[in-house]
Amino acid sequence: MNTNLRMPVLFVGHGSPMNAIEDSAWRREWQRLGKTLPKPRAVLCVSAHWETRGVGITAASKPETIHDFYGFPPELFAVEYPAPGDPDLARDIAGGVGDDATPVHLDPQRGIDHGAWSVLCAMYPEAGVPVLQLSLDTRRPGAWHYALAQRLAFLRDEGVLVLGSGNIVHNLMLLGRFWNAPAPPGWAVRFRDRVNAAIARRDHAALCDWPSLGPDAALAVPTPEHYLPLLYALALQRDDDGITTFNDDVFATLAMTSFVIGAGS
Ligand code: ZN
Repeated sequence: MNTNLRMPVLFVGHGSPMNAIEDSAWRREWQRLGKTLPKPRAVLCVSAHWETRGVGITAASKPETIHDFYGFPPELFAVEYPAPGDPDLARDIAGGVGDDATPVHLDPQRGIDHGAWSVLCAMYPEAGVPVLQLSLDTRRPGAWHYALAQRLAFLRDEGVLVLGSGNIVHNLMLLGRFWNAPAPPGWAVRFRDRVNAAIARRDHAALCDWPSLGPDAALAVPTPEHYLPLLYALALQRDDDGITTFNDDVFATLAMTSFVIGAGS
């Protein structure tokens, strides 16, 4: 395959599904990345929105677009993202990542959820790059996810872009209270800052055990599914990989903070 090019790794804070269709500085960054990053052979997305018992990987040749949300306008439900799948690559990944303790199940029925397509329809609007998703067994602790994600390292040398899609701060219970507030809550900003500092000092052990980042973790990460995709990206950071932060905003109770790992400057 692509022997002399190591693909970068992305973690994207996706926020509201409306970011798929509404212009914003965040979405413009997604569009820019689609144009500036090396063109991948395929994208493997680890999205907050596919939680399973055990680990699954999408294996449809034409995955459907899943509209896994409620209360949004019809134009969002009308979005179709017809990127192909890649069942052969799904088999390769399942074989390369799974083992007897943690088999990776091929799922030929599962489509692409909005954690993936809301970002990818901005990055690759022509939907020409095959998209696969790996599910999250959210019963497992952070270190387990990090160890599993390390087994995805070979994909970077095979032209596959690994995309973690979640939010490092994500509290929907309190979202309404802060939606129109002049500033986001202090706990959200503080936790975002703690995560950024830990990433800067490459303290992945602390990031895998996010309650260790302080008492704000309880409100910032009330459930793990939006935080865990970050660990899948960090697990693929090699010693010589730089990391670039973008969309580093806290909006209400969501941090849009995002990272490119290993893309040069
Ligand atoms: Zn989400």
